[in-house]
Amino acid sequence: MHPRPEAASKESFSSRSIGHSWERTSDYWINLGHQHVNERISRSINTNRAKNVIFFIGDGMSIPTLSATRVALGGEEQQLSWEKFPFSGLSKTYCVDSQVADSSCTGTAYWTGVKTNYMTMGVNAQVPLGDCEAALDPSTHTESIAKWAMDAGKSAGIVTTTTVTHASPGAGYAHVADRFWENDNFIRHSGCDPSKIDDIAKQLIHGPVGSRLSVVLGGGRGHMRDTSIPDEEGGTNYRGDSRDLISEWLSDGKPNKKYVWNRNDLLNLPSDTETLLGLFESGDMQFYLESQERGSQNTEPTLEEMTRSAINVLKKNPNGFFLFVEGGRIDHGHHYTMPRAAVAETIELHKAVQAARDMLSEEDTLIVVSSDHSHTMSISGYPTRGNDIFGKSDRIEASDGMPYMTLNYANGPISSPQYKATGRPNPATSDFSHWSSVFPFHIPIDLETHAGDDVGIFASGPNAHLFSGSIEQSHLPHLMAYALSVGNGPKR
Ligand SMILES: [Zn+2]
Repeated sequence: MHPRPEAASKESFSSRSIGHSWERTSDYWINLGHQHVNERISRSINTNRAKNVIFFIGDGMSIPTLSATRVALGGEEQQLSWEKFPFSGLSKTYCVDSQVADSSCTGTAYWTGVKTNYMTMGVNAQVPLGDCEAALDPSTHTESIAKWAMDAGKSAGIVTTTTVTHASPGAGYAHVADRFWENDNFIRHSGCDPSKIDDIAKQLIHGPVGSRLSVVLGGGRGHMRDTSIPDEEGGTNYRGDSRDLISEWLSDGKPNKKYVWNRNDLLNLPSDTETLLGLFESGDMQFYLESQERGSQNTEPTLEEMTRSAINVLKKNPNGFFLFVEGGRIDHGHHYTMPRAAVAETIELHKAVQAARDMLSEEDTLIVVSSDHSHTMSISGYPTRGNDIFGKSDRIEASDGMPYMTLNYANGPISSPQYKATGRPNPATSDFSHWSSVFPFHIPIDLETHAGDDVGIFASGPNAHLFSGSIEQSHLPHLMAYALSVGNGPKR
């Protein structure tokens, strides 16, 4: 049933002046369909053993986020870089104790192949959230594909726009009962003893997996250093144990190591760099549009630039590599119901994936793109073709007589101007034009939440055909390990 809204006139539903003229003929669609069939049937299955795997995660990159980003890129018919990949599927994101997941139980699933409890990381579901003792038992620890790859003689690296100790990258090398234990003081504040538990930053610099990573790029200097140590950009440090983990990382005697904290140094790395630590903010990196507005382009590399730098370092290993790249702040844009920010971060991920695909051959490098969980943003209201995706739905007026936005969230931050206890604010009187404009939502809450619907999986390269169908999120690392021939499971 497709009800015709009361408010819409017959004229406003006429398609005479809307959409592309060539789309009004049957021939256009039929030829496009035939072309697609021919392209599909000519595709061969690539069963090569993968030398390299790059795994991209868009944190919180729901399927509506992909659709909205296409329109923002230039039209409904656009394709994101990974939407050109030959194989795709769906990932079920629930965790052991939660219908709707967070980024650490999902990170544990896609890094280590084991589903676990909400907010726990790199441990199985024997460990309750926040338990001071349970994760000290190594039998609860899960092993990541980064470890499997390095044990097989390959290099491994992580790139993110959040802190490098955040839930998504952290699940690759750390084992903790609480994802927020990024530094010793955060463990102390939760009531546990940091002299007994290694915080996530410490596990990154000194842990058996973290210390072997060849590339670590993102934000998060503040979790590495004591509050008494000055930060390069005057940012906040969090540690309370007098340590400077960045100095400790630099002083382990390994050759050709490089620490950088700004874009210029990243883009001018010595050509013999074999191990790279780049920390570009004390906390999360800036939103892409924020860095443009603040004029921080000289200090903040883009996700594409970090991805290119990581590949250039990792590809020096003749045995190949595993690289994790995260567009980590798509999620943050959504949590604040700022879809312009979420979409801009998705466009940055789209560019990074394209750069990686251009740099590495489909013959030997598998690229997989997915997300950890969904968000509550929806695209609604029968807007006309080509209507501004960040605009008001132009074909329908709500029953309360006010217009509404095409993009709305099920819930959102109660502190925002888009919440009024007496009813919804009138979108006609709000400005939605800034990158940080807060969009409407239905239920007031602290922060917009994740959602429990499936997310997409897209794959290109050796054994990409395995990434299809509707699968458990925890199957992803086992499939990538098969393609790479690493780990304890089936191998190519
Ligand atoms: Zn989130």
